[in-house]
Amino acid sequence: MLGRPAQAVPADPKQLFAAANRVVVITGAGISADAGLATFRGPTGVASNDELVERLSSHHLKADREDVRSFVNGIVDGADRSEPTVAHIALADWQRSLRATGGDLTLVTMNLDGLHQRAGADTLELHGSARRIRCEGCARITTGTWSAAPCASCGASMRADVALYGERVMVEPEWRVKRALPDADLLLAIGTSVETSTIANWVRFCRRDYGVPTCLFSLDPSVSAAAQFDLVVDRRANDLVDYIPN
Ligand SMILES: [Zn+2]
Repeated sequence: MLGRPAQAVPADPKQLFAAANRVVVITGAGISADAGLATFRGPTGVASNDELVERLSSHHLKADREDVRSFVNGIVDGADRSEPTVAHIALADWQRSLRATGGDLTLVTMNLDGLHQRAGADTLELHGSARRIRCEGCARITTGTWSAAPCASCGASMRADVALYGERVMVEPEWRVKRALPDADLLLAIGTSVETSTIANWVRFCRRDYGVPTCLFSLDPSVSAAAQFDLVVDRRANDLVDYIPN
């Protein structure tokens, strides 16, 4: 795997996607923006990305646990009132058709909204699940809504099993992506700013070590994000249906 020569990346994303059999797809908030779950000013009503990061941070959990709890529950409520978009559905279909023909599509999301799963995709949740509740004392897991009630077993505080800003991403999803990347023939990032170091590292490994073509599909990407990829498609996530083979 190391030292595999870099492939010539076709300039046409449709050609790149159609030739791919082992795909790794990373999605961020942009894919859910078309479902009405805006990155900001969504159901949770934050004004900026800075406010979002602050309110979903590990240090804010220590300072104002109730605020983080209501914020996370607000994300779940907003998601429950939304439907998967054509992009969520197209990715689930692509995964099914690749797996039916001996290929694979590893889908990893940073989103907590559960829309990939509702579209029928086998999904790795890099930032965990807001519907899984974990005890901070005994690590007991329950499912449902994050309530203020303490753990029924040990009395410690409960919290959503999500990676807040300042916390480590989920170990198993990260491990499964790292295993899939060296043998992939396409890394496709959708609707993400690629600001987290985890994602930026994956993209770097693909380009530098694995010779895996990388594509960013994102509306209005930053110059620094775009520079990390072989190919950039400046379109909204729902336009994916024009590119994914069917
Ligand atoms: Zn407990």
